[in-house]
Formats: sequence, C-alpha cells, structure tokens
Amino acid sequence: SAGLVVVGGGQAGFQVAASLREAGFADPVTIVGDEPGLPYQRPPLSKAYLAGKADAEGLRLRPDAYFAEHRIAVRSGTRAVAIDREARTLRLGDGSDLAYGHLVLATGARNRPLPVPGADLPGVRQLRDLADADALRAALETARRVVVVGAGFIGLEFAAVAATRGLDVTLIEAADRPMARAVSGETGAFFRVAHENLGVRFAFGAGVVAITGEGGRAVAIRLSDGQEMPADLVVVGIGVLPNQELAAEAGLSVADGIRVDAFLGTDDPAISAVGDCTRHPSVFAAGLSADGTVRIESVQNAIDQGRCLAARLTGRPAAYAALPWFWSDQGRFKLQIAGLSGPSDQSVRRGEGEAFSVFRYRGERLVAVESINRAGDHMIARRILGAGRTPTPAQAADPTFDLKLFAM
Ligand code: FAD
Repeated sequence: SAGLVVVGGGQAGFQVAASLREAGFADPVTIVGDEPGLPYQRPPLSKAYLAGKADAEGLRLRPDAYFAEHRIAVRSGTRAVAIDREARTLRLGDGSDLAYGHLVLATGARNRPLPVPGADLPGVRQLRDLADADALRAALETARRVVVVGAGFIGLEFAAVAATRGLDVTLIEAADRPMARAVSGETGAFFRVAHENLGVRFAFGAGVVAITGEGGRAVAIRLSDGQEMPADLVVVGIGVLPNQELAAEAGLSVADGIRVDAFLGTDDPAISAVGDCTRHPSVFAAGLSADGTVRIESVQNAIDQGRCLAARLTGRPAAYAALPWFWSDQGRFKLQIAGLSGPSDQSVRRGEGEAFSVFRYRGERLVAVESINRAGDHMIARRILGAGRTPTPAQAADPTFDLKLFAM
C-alpha cells in the first residue's frame, strides 16, 4: 500500500504517527515537515527555553532512535506544496511526488503578521518555532528596551521572561486588558498586576500604526495616538492564522481552519486533519460559536485529536469529544484553564490572594474554570466539566464545599 503520509511534523502530526504505531498500524508512515530536525514541543519556547533554563535536546518529543524503531520516516526540511486528490499524491517542494493511501494534514498555524509599515525591519520578531526562539534568546542578551505588541499568552510569557531578566518592557494591547479573548476579567486583572510587579508597563486600547527604523533597524514603534516608544527589540504576538492553503487549493472546505467532521475527516475520505489547523465541531462550543465549531490552539487538542484519528484509522472510530484544557506560565504564576469560555460568561471566584480559581458560567451551566496556582482545582475542574456537571455558583464560591467529592 502507499501508506499514510502526514503533512506537518509538529505536536499533532507526531501524535498521529506515534498513536498509529501503538495501535499496531502496519503500513508505512511518513511525516513530511518543513522545519529542520525532528518533532519538538513548542510551549517551552516562550518559557523555560527562552529563559535559558532548558536546551533544545529537552524539547524533543522523542529521541532519534524512536523513529527508526517505530518505522516512522521523517522527511524534515521538506515542504508539501500541492495535493493531487485524483492521483493521491503529494507534491513536495523539490518537485517530486509522494503517493499516499491516507493523507493527514497537521500543518498547524503561523503567526499573524503585523500589518503596518516597518514590520519587516530587523529588530522586529515573532515567536513560533525553535529558530525564532533562538533568535530571541540571542536578542535578549543585548536588548535593553523591549516593546511587545499583543498581550495574549505568547506576549505575556515573553514579557515575563524579559522583565525577569531586568529588561525594560512595555506591552501594547488593543483591548482593555490582557488575554481579553481567552480569560475572565478577574484573571486578566490579576495577571496585569502580576506583570506590573515585574516592572512591565502596559498600554491598553493602543494600536500600532508604524515601526520606525534608523540605520536599517527598528528603533521605535508609533501608536495611533501619535506617541513614539523607543525600542531596540519589538516582539509581535497578535495571534495566528491556520495553515489551510494546501487544503483550500485542493478544493477542501476551509473557514478559519480546515473543516473536519466529528471524526476529523475532511470532505475527502482519503484526507483527515488534526491540530491547530482544524475547525472542528465541539460540544464545548455550544453557545460560544454560531455553528458549534471551534479552532483550538493547544497541546491538549493536538494530542487528543492525533489519538482520536489514529483510533479511527485502526478500526476504533469515536467522535472527538475531549475536554479542552490549556496552561500558561507567567513569572511565578501558573494559569491553567479547563473548558472554553467567552467574554460574556459570568464569573464566580473561589479562593483568595495569589491562589484562586474563577468558575465561568454560561447561563446556568459551568463552561470553564481558570485556576491560578491551584493545580488541584484544575484537575477537579477537568473531571467535572468532562462529565458535563455543574456546581451552583454558590457552591463554587464556598471554600467549605467539597468539590472533590462533588466530582466523584
Ligand atoms: P504545529 O506545532 O504548528 O506544527 C505544524 C508543523 O507543520 C510545523 O512544523 C509547520 O512548519 C509544518 N508545516 C506547515 N505547513 C507545511 C507544509 N505545507 N509542508 C510541510 N510542513 C508544513 N499550547 C499549550 O497548550 N500550552 C502552552 O503553554 C503553549 N505554549 C506555546 C508557546 C509557543 C511559543 C507557541 C508557538 C505555541 C504554544 N502553544 C501552547 C500552542 C501549541 O504549541 C500548539 O497548539 C501545538 O504546537 C499545535 O500542534 P500542531 O501540530 O497542530 O501544529
């Protein structure tokens, strides 16, 4: 048989291959990935690795030997440029064709570019892959004034590392608080203060209109109110775009993500998709997105979709129904989120001070729990949300109410 080909050697693509082998899949498996080297994890790139507390070896998802032992061929440094669905071949960057029996798209996402003049000047950087992280690590050695555009997870994690090193850090954010799309006002406010305590300054409600250069390098950023902020390093973290062009050009449906059904299949029965690049139906999106579908950027989603697809391809089909969860480390604070919430969900706080959880309700229903330095709450929340259960807001807020017992 022509075997199974995965496009993208990230978290999701790797997981499909690994889970297929675990389930006894016997056909050839090939991962085609455009990055150099073997699959690695991204989360430390904005945390321990950026801070110089982890090395590249430690990022690897598996050691070299694993791939040969499990007969997973990795063609790294190789870009897939087109799919011929009729012939069932994948066109590679070098012009050659690779035949597939089943094709898995695990192309992930790329950074959204900042659409202003000067955004391509040296001294303006983004963070998605190991090469970006290496460049940023080097830049942190010499930079003094850093401006970060975007107070999302990546921007905040980067800011925490830079500020901890004693650099002068300003965060520019169009919304009125950090992580505005992803977390409650309570959690956002807490992390704002946490960053301010590290010395980070915020400019909220601010738009970047240009990056000004001098001697061919970025030296300042200009805001919509005319203010100029000097910077020797500008880091842009304003979200991602799904890598869906390969699918779209092959005639598969895309809509901010490659559209898949509950079994992670595309419109073509010979092609599936997993990870950051997918838009998939989710029971956890009820009341959040108009059509009940979501696109999720997380390690959990990449791993669980990889496993779900491998199960289907080895004869154990089940709809993808895993509970979304996520984490972010910022300075000495660990944020863990279970479930999916939106800006209009109600919040109830449990716990005080620097360790608390925020329970989010959509109408009567508990939909997400954000935990700050409360790992126990997070684990219990995963169980409660996974089972579709709801403590009342009064119970959630009551420190004497036994949530662990409730979860059983
Ligand atoms: P990716 O990991 O992006 O892998 C896709 C791969 O496909 C890439 O290597 C890409 O280059 C390759 N590719 C794309 N197109 C082609 C093509 N045409 N041909 C060949 N190869 C192609 N998530 C968390 O849950 N917690 C965290 O703390 C966290 N921190 C993060 C920190 C950073 C700095 C970043 C960037 C992400 C973080 N994430 C975190 C998100 C998480 O890393 C992603 O959700 C996860 O990597 C998604 O896996 P994926 O395989 O779908 O995509």
